[in-house]
Amino acid sequence: MTNVAQTRGDSTGSEATEFDALVVGAGFSGLYQLHALRDRLGLTVQVLEAADGVGGTWYWNRYPGARCDSESHSYCFSFSEELINDWEWSERYPAQPEVMRYLNFVADRLDLKRDIRFHTKVVAAEYDEARNRWLVTTEAGAHLSATYLITAVGCLSAANIPDFPGLDRFEGDWHHTGLWPHEGVDFAGKRVIQIGTGSTGIQAAPVIAETAEHLTVLQRTPNYSVPAQNAPLTDEFRRHVKATYPEIRRVMRSTPNGHAFTIADRSAFDVTPEEREAIYEAAWAKGGLQFRASFRDVLVNKEANDTAAEFVKKKIREIVKDPATAEQLANIDHPYAGKRPPIDTNYFETFNRDNVTLVDVRTDPIEEITATGVRLRSGAEHVADIIVFATGFDAMTGTLLKMGIRGRDGLTLEQAWEAGPRNYLGLQVPGFPNLFTVTGPGSPSVLCNMPVPIEQHVEWIADCIAHLRQHGIDRIEPEAAAADDWVEQVNRAARATLLSEVEHSWYLGANVPGKPRVFMPYAGGMARYRAICDEVAANGYSGFALR
Ligand SMILES: Cc1cc2nc3c(=O)[nH]c(=O)nc-3n(C[C@H](O)[C@H](O)[C@H](O)COP(=O)(O)OP(=O)(O)OC[C@H]3O[C@@H](n4cnc5c(N)ncnc54)[C@H](O)[C@@H]3O)c2cc1C
Repeated sequence: MTNVAQTRGDSTGSEATEFDALVVGAGFSGLYQLHALRDRLGLTVQVLEAADGVGGTWYWNRYPGARCDSESHSYCFSFSEELINDWEWSERYPAQPEVMRYLNFVADRLDLKRDIRFHTKVVAAEYDEARNRWLVTTEAGAHLSATYLITAVGCLSAANIPDFPGLDRFEGDWHHTGLWPHEGVDFAGKRVIQIGTGSTGIQAAPVIAETAEHLTVLQRTPNYSVPAQNAPLTDEFRRHVKATYPEIRRVMRSTPNGHAFTIADRSAFDVTPEEREAIYEAAWAKGGLQFRASFRDVLVNKEANDTAAEFVKKKIREIVKDPATAEQLANIDHPYAGKRPPIDTNYFETFNRDNVTLVDVRTDPIEEITATGVRLRSGAEHVADIIVFATGFDAMTGTLLKMGIRGRDGLTLEQAWEAGPRNYLGLQVPGFPNLFTVTGPGSPSVLCNMPVPIEQHVEWIADCIAHLRQHGIDRIEPEAAAADDWVEQVNRAARATLLSEVEHSWYLGANVPGKPRVFMPYAGGMARYRAICDEVAANGYSGFALR
């Protein structure tokens, strides 16, 4: 069965129970937040982490093919020259074990682990107004408190396992890609069903197919993908990155998505159809997320987007030999990059293998899991020894809502967010003083190369706390009107792009039954968002009530 063992009792990072700040999560966000608060501000800080090691996303997502879609030289911390100079990436896109090694390197170099309690899952966090402290309870029953509570729990860390009837009767093994067993899964000689064809499924299928006896991919939503063109990094490239790092960082901070490439300043219609085709061909050959940067209007103009979409669909039809399978894969009904745009290594090619079958579960949906496999509404049955759920996450709000957070007057976060996440700048929620959410909903987060928004949030929060302490301010909390205005700005930013048109996107919460349909990330671009946050701080934290 799937590996969900994660809380074997608290391991103590410290005997103390009272801190200036408690940070939940030890991925990119929690590690840097600990460093910023402890080593720059001199606060007493404890990080609480459910896993038994650092890494966050990369601790849990050990599925076959798990790999970064951001290029390695941009998927790392930029705040420390020492960290930049003393780390060498091996590939253009690092695989999961390498990102784990990197985050362990960071944690060791900054001596962070001594202030992290592993195996420690937070199950409740309540604000005590009289003491102006957050009281945190762990699954093992420990109680800790702090003036500031900072959630660094990740946007994509609450695994979404669809509630198919019959899963408990399945006699084989099943695993969610986000809770993958550490010992790995042996697919040799096994019949495997993979459910899901998002970024994860697109990474996993080619690798599973290499060893499985048979792989059946159940596809509800066909998806675009562009080849990653992954390769080992040359020494020359590594030297170039180190020599030009300030410029790379400047580019990452000036672009909407925080990647180390700029978006071409031309419309898809500034060039002839032949020139456009040549530009897409070159971008396809180069590979990776840069494909969407070919023209500035790909994400905002449907006709421009269609040119990219049609190019990818043409490629799918060229690659996949069986015309019916090619048509199923290319029958994509959302704009290119309207959902998280995957990149791949041999995804479409995988459907040319004799041991791989594609099944359309949009027209013939999954009815139930049986003892031996999956039965569709038509009655068709697909047998499996192993089912792989590549079904993603209860994104952005799922983990926060599972933490038992209660603010002033007992207000729960579930109550506050009944109609969808309502906060200010994605950073703070009205009614929850001194609670900060790193990459919370309403921040650019998942629309970016995430180390960039993570660093910006961590630094903004640290500067804010420094300001509070310097000025003898006990608590900070957003004004209701500022939060309402921000929610409106987030909606407006989404409406200005094609992203809000995709009904079945996890950006909108559509993958989780009953979740309010609200476009969650801020689509106005990372550079603009940073400027807004800086201005708010420069204006004495306008929109926040400081007491
Ligand atoms: C498969 C996959 C591939 C990705 N690829 C990319 C990519 O190419 N580029 C990119 O920019 N981003 C990518 N991401 C997004 C990725 O999540 C971020 O880049 C980044 O790792 C987030 O770091 P974080 O520290 O904010 O959160 P996480 O890494 O998710 O860490 C959160 C931590 O909080 C802990 N936690 C949660 N709840 C509790 C609790 N109640 N008590 C205690 N601990 C708790 C979790 O155990 C976890 O360790 C990917 C995500 C996934 C899932």
